[in-house]
Amino acid sequence: MDARLEAIRDTVLARNPGEAEFHQAVVEVFESLGPVHDRHPEFLEAAILERLCEPERQIIFRVPWTDDQGRVQINRGFRVEFNSALGPYKGGLRFHPSVYLGIVKFLGFEQIFKNALTGMPIGGGKGGSDFDPRGRSDAEVMRFCQSFMTELYRHIGEYTDVPAGDIGVGGREIGYLFGQYKRITNRYESGVLTGKGISWGGSLVRPEATGFGTVIFTEEMLKTRGTSFDGQRVVVSGSGNVAINAVAKAQSLGATVVACSDSSGYIVDEAGIDVGLLRQVKEVERGRLKDYALRRSGVAYVEAGSVWDVDATVALPCATQNELDGDAAARLVRNGLIAIGEGANMPSTREAVAVFQEAGVLFGPGKAANAGGVATSALEMQQNASRDSWSFEHTEQRLTDIMVGIHHRCASTADEYGEPGNYVLGANIGGFVKVADAMLAQGLI
Ligand code: GLU
Repeated sequence: MDARLEAIRDTVLARNPGEAEFHQAVVEVFESLGPVHDRHPEFLEAAILERLCEPERQIIFRVPWTDDQGRVQINRGFRVEFNSALGPYKGGLRFHPSVYLGIVKFLGFEQIFKNALTGMPIGGGKGGSDFDPRGRSDAEVMRFCQSFMTELYRHIGEYTDVPAGDIGVGGREIGYLFGQYKRITNRYESGVLTGKGISWGGSLVRPEATGFGTVIFTEEMLKTRGTSFDGQRVVVSGSGNVAINAVAKAQSLGATVVACSDSSGYIVDEAGIDVGLLRQVKEVERGRLKDYALRRSGVAYVEAGSVWDVDATVALPCATQNELDGDAAARLVRNGLIAIGEGANMPSTREAVAVFQEAGVLFGPGKAANAGGVATSALEMQQNASRDSWSFEHTEQRLTDIMVGIHHRCASTADEYGEPGNYVLGANIGGFVKVADAMLAQGLI
């Protein structure tokens, strides 16, 4: 790493002790940015990096609620408003027991660059809670969401901060959150949240957007090697919203997706995953993948184990951070992997990324490859602002154009900096320069 950046990195790490995921995200971005600072000494003089690493505002709050037995439960809520150079803070809410400040900050930091890459007018933020929705009734989830919003409402707004979903937060939770926001503020402010239901201000394609976008980005990478998804053997990790829609899109382009996973195990379905059955089990019934295997012949269910043991030519990690380590990466490469597109945020460890890059595998980092979700959130904000709603076809075309544009920006930036095919460098520099220019223009704030 560039010596000038090393010193800044050390200060950032020391100022944020115990936040391993935030450290990882910062270090990965800093490793790309040496050449930018050679060309733009003004960024160093204006302390752009130091400012970028310090969130503009961080909110931590108590979330009290009662469970179905009438017992009092206390969770911790977070919203980190990281950077508003390009637009209102934008980014999802994650409800998962692993959530703490370091996770929210890593996600918020990534979101700044991701959102910049989309070309849409959105800043970066993220939030969530250590609340575990699994096993909770609808009524418990509603009471939790209402309590969460009872604090959050004073910090957000269509021109201030626009949350959406992430792990553990889907249409049901956004509904309860929006209802409580409306009730407290007495405003039908559609643009305050994205991922809304289609009849009350949501956008078509938003549910599909992250998974679809990941596949569209990966298809663009494959095209640079004269190939495509058609005929590829694909492994997806996860079986939530991102994973399911990645499976659907990859198969619509002619691939066979042979495996996906949940936190208990994975399935191998050599005939290609039945997306309808997967949706039924995971989305309608909120069940486990084991149930998929029980209902379809020829499917193997492997309890525990790693889905990355299954050989594939294309891998789409769509579960969570650091789910794919160096050993798994080496196995995938040995088994013939040619491309990987990250549907989750930072699913590959630093060791895994090094293995992929060393082996010349096409590697699409999350902040580029999974930007379709937040990009379509920005399209939802556009529709809300104009009190309009677009057709599926039009919205999907916009998403496709945005993903092709992100691929182009990453690839041309990597070329410009003398590292063709390095999408990590292209994404980090492409996103950073846009934000840094806007911060310079807006003065010391
Ligand atoms: N949580 C998603 C992400 O990681 C989407 C955020 C949004 O739509 O605001 O980008």
